[in-house]
Amino acid sequence: MNVHTNIPLKNYLTMKLGGSARFMTDVSTADELAAACRNAKSQNLPFFVLGGGSNVIATDNGFNGLVIRNRIPGFDVLEDTASGAIIKIGAGEDWDETVAKTVQMGLSGIEAMSAIPGTVGAAPVQNIGAYGQELAETFVSLEAYDSETDQFVILENADCGFSYRHSIFRGEQSGRYAICSVTLKLFKSPPQPPFYEAVERYFNEHGITLFTAANVRDAVIAIRSEKLPDPSERPNTGSFFKNAIIDDWQLTELQKNWPDIPYYELDGKQVKIPTGWLIEQVGLKGQLLHGMRVHDKNALVLINESAASYSDLAAARDEIMAKVRDTFRITIEQEPLQV
Ligand SMILES: Cc1cc2nc3c(=O)[nH]c(=O)nc-3n(C[C@H](O)[C@H](O)[C@H](O)COP(=O)(O)OP(=O)(O)OC[C@H]3O[C@@H](n4cnc5c(N)ncnc54)[C@H](O)[C@@H]3O)c2cc1C
Repeated sequence: MNVHTNIPLKNYLTMKLGGSARFMTDVSTADELAAACRNAKSQNLPFFVLGGGSNVIATDNGFNGLVIRNRIPGFDVLEDTASGAIIKIGAGEDWDETVAKTVQMGLSGIEAMSAIPGTVGAAPVQNIGAYGQELAETFVSLEAYDSETDQFVILENADCGFSYRHSIFRGEQSGRYAICSVTLKLFKSPPQPPFYEAVERYFNEHGITLFTAANVRDAVIAIRSEKLPDPSERPNTGSFFKNAIIDDWQLTELQKNWPDIPYYELDGKQVKIPTGWLIEQVGLKGQLLHGMRVHDKNALVLINESAASYSDLAAARDEIMAKVRDTFRITIEQEPLQV
């Protein structure tokens, strides 16, 4: 195992902020991943698995432990039938390249999640989702190294506790499992309308009436390139805040002052409110706060324009959260995980 010391984390995180990792190593097999976790544990060092660093924020103190960069490859079709295919993908594979491959194979199920940065292994951690699809809908199982029992385990869909941008991997079991591969069930039937509003609009504007996974992928890539800044040019982590989930009675209260408040019904008792709208209403869309720009095309995104350190980001975040809380009595939550 090749271990490097004192590595600036900002070189590995798309927000380009944060202190150094005391140790860092790359792994490209499940056994190497397990060995790295065991090694850290035997020396009482904290550890965490890093993918593409597009959903992690590091404080200025960095990480006083071992960062394990997961590079495990693999793309194996386990089952291919008339209706679909079951595919096992190495956790270190690039997510968007995986989507592209499945779309080329004529499979549907993850095409609306095109162009999400990062690795396949990180996808279950926050149950990634976009444009009306989320991972849980096609996820079958994953293989992981369980650092608590020192064994490889298979976790099925129901074991993962998936909900909106959440799973056990960022909840009650955070840090326990190192994911080695993910198995998905995809379909040969074309995607069916109705599509997410922005995708429908794109199809109408481009006169597209034949719906295929490839068309949805093209639409999503075009829409995202308009709305989301490229992290390699303007450091960011995509949505910095989760959309807000509130009870129906809270919505009724809010509608008295904001009759046009947008919302999506969830289960009859709760609704999802676009946090970007809340941030826009408090006048922060497009503003520069402590070197962090609230993106002028999508107020959920914070861009590191000139922040000197994590504390600048934290100050900007806290200011936004306080303004939203004071105005709407809604506590919005940070999406990226923090080390
Ligand atoms: C421009 C932009 C747009 C984005 N758009 C979306 C979007 O539309 N939808 C969405 O859901 N997300 C979006 N994201 C967030 C991010 O891309 C996803 O969360 C992605 O899955 C993170 O992958 P990663 O490999 O970069 O993970 P990392 O940032 O490296 O890690 C994220 C978390 O997963 C854990 N982790 C990573 N790999 C493993 C593993 N093998 N085993 C165990 N734990 C692991 C890490 O410890 C960390 O806690 C966006 C980000 C950016 C920068």
